Amino acid sequence: MSVQSYIDKVMKSTMQSTPGQTEFYQAVEEVLGTLEPILLAEPKYDNYNILERIVIPERQILFRVVWMDDAGKIQTNIGYRVQFNSAIGPYKGGLRFHPSVNLGIIKFLGFEQIFKNSLTGLSIGGGKGGSNFDPKGKSDGEIMRFCQSFMIELSKHIGETRDVPAGDIGVGGREIGYMFGEYKRLTGNFEGILTGKGVNWGGSLTRTEATGFGSVYFAENVLNKQDDSLKGKIATVSGSGNVAIYTIQKLYDMGATPVTCSDSRGMIYDKNGIDLDSLKLIKEINRQSIDEYCLIHKHATYLPVHSYPEGTNAVWAVPCDVAFPSATQNELNLEDIKNLHKNGCKLVCEGANMPSTPEAIDYMQANGIMYAPGKAANAGGVATSQLEMSQNASMQKWTFAEVDDKLRSIMKSIFDLSYDTSKEFEDEGNLMKGANIAGFRKVADSMIDQGAV
Ligand code: NDP
Repeated sequence: MSVQSYIDKVMKSTMQSTPGQTEFYQAVEEVLGTLEPILLAEPKYDNYNILERIVIPERQILFRVVWMDDAGKIQTNIGYRVQFNSAIGPYKGGLRFHPSVNLGIIKFLGFEQIFKNSLTGLSIGGGKGGSNFDPKGKSDGEIMRFCQSFMIELSKHIGETRDVPAGDIGVGGREIGYMFGEYKRLTGNFEGILTGKGVNWGGSLTRTEATGFGSVYFAENVLNKQDDSLKGKIATVSGSGNVAIYTIQKLYDMGATPVTCSDSRGMIYDKNGIDLDSLKLIKEINRQSIDEYCLIHKHATYLPVHSYPEGTNAVWAVPCDVAFPSATQNELNLEDIKNLHKNGCKLVCEGANMPSTPEAIDYMQANGIMYAPGKAANAGGVATSQLEMSQNASMQKWTFAEVDDKLRSIMKSIFDLSYDTSKEFEDEGNLMKGANIAGFRKVADSMIDQGAV
């Protein structure tokens, strides 16, 4: 069988056996579509059925989460934990709380996580979880009761050497705190079973900033390779959550000017540069809508989502040199990339997971726009989570600068590995291909070493 037929066969059986998981197919297709050169060079992956195995989670757990709202009414949600691949270490990957969450979304995120975690060079397998619970508009008490109920079931499946979840959309320090407290109450153990913990109780300095900072370090590496840098560049950023905020902060440190941010209701354009203090106050502290920004900064523009030109994301219509999609999946499509190209954008660096559609990626590659794929560019978060696990295990506490230095060097090594692998497979500079192949090779070889499991 030809390599392409092998890939097609696995793709087809994935779609037949897991109907309706659109985002998962997209993630699988994106990875398998770049593996042809290594499958040609190394028939062992076909002989050992690696593709058939790697697309099926080792375990997926689906559970009922029942909690009581402030009005005394019983509410019900679905909880998920997909333990995708433990070939190179315990499962590691975030929890997402968002009404759009379903099994297909958690599987796409878990699948991406396998290769991302492998690229970090650290011993962490791939997993992901979450719930269709919507934290928006909920009181602190409701969030706490939901998190406690969620942890009652999750606690049966996680552990320091087994599975260590972290945050993702809708899960930040507050939610991690409530879940950690409940785990401790249930088991009596103070253990590093979650990352993203508060710094007073086992968390690592720089973890909050890590994904955003890491994404900017990655972009700097990409540009440095072209004898360029972020200094003096105009950047557009989508989102206004954890990743977006610390992307914006680090962009300023690197001498760039971030001029946009957004949330699920609309976007802000501030030609003077987004004011970081206002953004943190609105989104991190007050948990308000981003349109509040214009009350403080009258010169800035707010555009609600319903007024975006049809089929586009208005963030990507703002002229820029570099773009950082940092909100959610499929938020940058073909029309968006055409807008970015027209306005002179040179680099798209993905802070979010799978934010660019396949058509947008094809367009970038055909038109010479540099593309830094999420599984490489946003790996700083999970890498720093692993640094948190290391500190927990050795009872140490590193300084902000120490962790930041390690993060910076991990991002450089992820870039080098992705770049060098693209060169090895004769497509120099194709970081998507380089990252996918490098991430795959380490996991697949480990699977072969461990036998038929
Ligand atoms: P947050 O919940 O902190 O922020 C998400 C941001 O994106 C919010 O501004 C939110 O708007 C916006 N958003 C969410 N869904 C949509 C949507 N459907 N349409 C438009 N905007 C939306 O999440 P994070 O910053 O942690 O995560 C952002 C992305 O980065 C995700 O793809 C995540 O998987 C990825 N990522 C996160 C890591 C981490 O360490 N946190 C690590 C690696 C990747 P609103 O405020 O209105 O909800």
